[in-house]
Amino acid sequence: LKGVYAEDQYRKQQEFERVKYKFSLISGLFSFAVLMSVLLSGGFSFLDLYIRQFTNHPIGMALLFFGIIGFLSDLLSMPFEVYDTFRIEQQFGFNTTSVRTYVVDKLKSWLLAAVFGGLILSLIVYFYTEIGEWFLLLAFSLVTAFSIFVNYFYTTLFVPLFNKLTPLEEGVLKNEIEKYCLSVNFRIHSILVIDGSKRSKRANAYFSGFGHNKKVVFYDTLLSDHSNDEIIAILAHEIGHYRKKHVVKGLILGMLQTAFLFWVLSVFLSTPFLSGALGSQPGFHMGLLSFVLLFSPFSALIGILVNYVSRRHEYQADYFASVTFKAQSLANALKRLSANNLSNLTPHPLYVFFRYSHPTLLQRLEAISNVKQEELPN
Ligand SMILES: [Zn+2]
Repeated sequence: LKGVYAEDQYRKQQEFERVKYKFSLISGLFSFAVLMSVLLSGGFSFLDLYIRQFTNHPIGMALLFFGIIGFLSDLLSMPFEVYDTFRIEQQFGFNTTSVRTYVVDKLKSWLLAAVFGGLILSLIVYFYTEIGEWFLLLAFSLVTAFSIFVNYFYTTLFVPLFNKLTPLEEGVLKNEIEKYCLSVNFRIHSILVIDGSKRSKRANAYFSGFGHNKKVVFYDTLLSDHSNDEIIAILAHEIGHYRKKHVVKGLILGMLQTAFLFWVLSVFLSTPFLSGALGSQPGFHMGLLSFVLLFSPFSALIGILVNYVSRRHEYQADYFASVTFKAQSLANALKRLSANNLSNLTPHPLYVFFRYSHPTLLQRLEAISNVKQEELPN
């Protein structure tokens, strides 16, 4: 990994790592302390009694209960978010978010959470209280349909709420991209550029949609910092994800998770002592809350599996890009991305095992250098 960072930039990276670590320790301890004090002081049962003054309808109670919890917890985490964006990211030269953008983003995300979260929560409560025996199947179908909907329309409907997307302009890069896509027989429906520089100097690229709605999105920050070959290598990696059916596999893995989640939820809902443990009378919203609180060890375990699968997919996409395009360009692109994002070059292997969705830079470079460059027809 020699040469990824210049000497002074490496010192900056180490300092960044220290600052980020201290920050996450403090914010993590804070949210743990808040949760414990709410639990020990009977805060949830107090809130339960409070909302029962306004309605006794299960849907109304669930909306009020989780609306208040969601809003308050977002308010509590806001100072940390502001510090992270306007202090840490600013200090290390990443932040470009204006206060105005931050406020507008906040309002929009609250609105989205209220509309979609409210709608899904209402339907799930309705399925449980009104239809009963079909609960598992209905809740599963609803969440699955929603995630497919979001996946398909992500770039068309949701991203434009926060960013401006423009088609990649005509020119050398676009021609070379089209030539590459032709060589691997892949039809992209649009190549877009997103104004990521509106919020941060960090660079990225992603692929979204499926079927007749395949889109590749480049951050403007990526285009300004990388050579054409590096950009195409990144695109080839993204196409590799699609070719190896990672989008579909991801959806199926998500469906399995959803099915398991609702099964555990239905067990929790039929266990009244859990609401009692939170100091209140049984009700759908209290059952759901106890589920949310107690499910986190399970989701940590599921996270290990999901990350493991994701890391394997990254290797496969890298392999695809190395074979169908240029291994050296991909390696250069990954090095430059790591350096620009001040990535940690030497994370602890255990931390990688638990938390990393991507292999480390060293692991990826080693895998890429092992790929035998095959001669492809044209
Ligand atoms: Zn990838």
